[in-house]
Amino acid sequence: MKTVGVLTSGGDSPGMNAAIRAVVRNAIAKGCRVIGVRRGYDGLIQGQLEEMNLSSVADIIHRGGTILRTARSEEFRTEEGRKKALNVMKVFGIEGMVVIGGDGSFRGAEELSKLGIPTIGVPGTIDNDLAYTDYTIGFDTAMNTVVEAISRIRDTSTSHGRANIIEVMGRHCGDIALHAGLAGGAESIIIPEVGLDIEQVCRKLIKGKNRGKLHSIILLAEGVGGAIELGATIEEMTGIETRATILGHTQRGGSPTAFDRVLASKMGAKAVDLLIEGKQSLVVGIKGNEIIGVDIEKALSIEKKLDKETYQLADILSM
Ligand code: ATP
Repeated sequence: MKTVGVLTSGGDSPGMNAAIRAVVRNAIAKGCRVIGVRRGYDGLIQGQLEEMNLSSVADIIHRGGTILRTARSEEFRTEEGRKKALNVMKVFGIEGMVVIGGDGSFRGAEELSKLGIPTIGVPGTIDNDLAYTDYTIGFDTAMNTVVEAISRIRDTSTSHGRANIIEVMGRHCGDIALHAGLAGGAESIIIPEVGLDIEQVCRKLIKGKNRGKLHSIILLAEGVGGAIELGATIEEMTGIETRATILGHTQRGGSPTAFDRVLASKMGAKAVDLLIEGKQSLVVGIKGNEIIGVDIEKALSIEKKLDKETYQLADILSM
């Protein structure tokens, strides 16, 4: 393996830069050239590539976003688009690729491997929605962003005696809501894996109010519904005043936590090592304390299940 390409694709996540840095520096340390691809698969098709050196990734480990930028590409989903990408990779002499992104980006990575370019995926997504790995890069930072928001909202919630509904990201996977809700002491956590039981939410609020509780935080994953609508329903059913906060893209940005930086560094470096070992069509993950490589197709076929124990614990502790 003489020349390795690297791109970021799909939604960005804090820690992607730390992963790029690890790919570039580990590859150079092992005697490879590194080509950075701008704007994901779209940039690959358009030929937006440039050689990277040690300085290209200096001073980025602490920065959110991705210096390579990211994009979604409809053209790459077509055979014709992928052929164009292959030609570009041949022109630049790319012999192996590292793709940093979510499940969609991994499907693209698999297609690249099928075209004869060994490709390794690195999970960069705040959603933590990939079942083959305990954590994805960016999840810890997003969770901490939500926990900080909960603390701020809790202060004003207490002053006014209101119930606050905080809407967080998570269309299909409620991990951000569940873990941030447990860490932030939310009264109710509403996630797609379980759905909304409005009577139970209202019962908890009324019970809390009756025993003199001054604040209430309800964490709602976006996949279940909107915070404003839920607030209106709760007011109607309980008479308790509500306020809604939608955290939106604040969860995507910001300096990555130390956990995400370490995870991204280990995963990015592992992806390069796997390519040098001659591996292809794998995605990197973490299980326990071990950095692992899993076949892409197998990794994507594992269904993400609700962490029932954590959900039940959060429920018990928020009585
Ligand atoms: P996020 O988790 O943030 O949504 P993602 O990586 O899942 O990130 P997607 O938009 O699903 O984001 O995928 C990113 C890109 O990967 C797509 O725009 C497309 O170019 C490519 N891609 C997705 N699925 C396929 C596929 N089946 N074949 C080829 N390319 C694909």
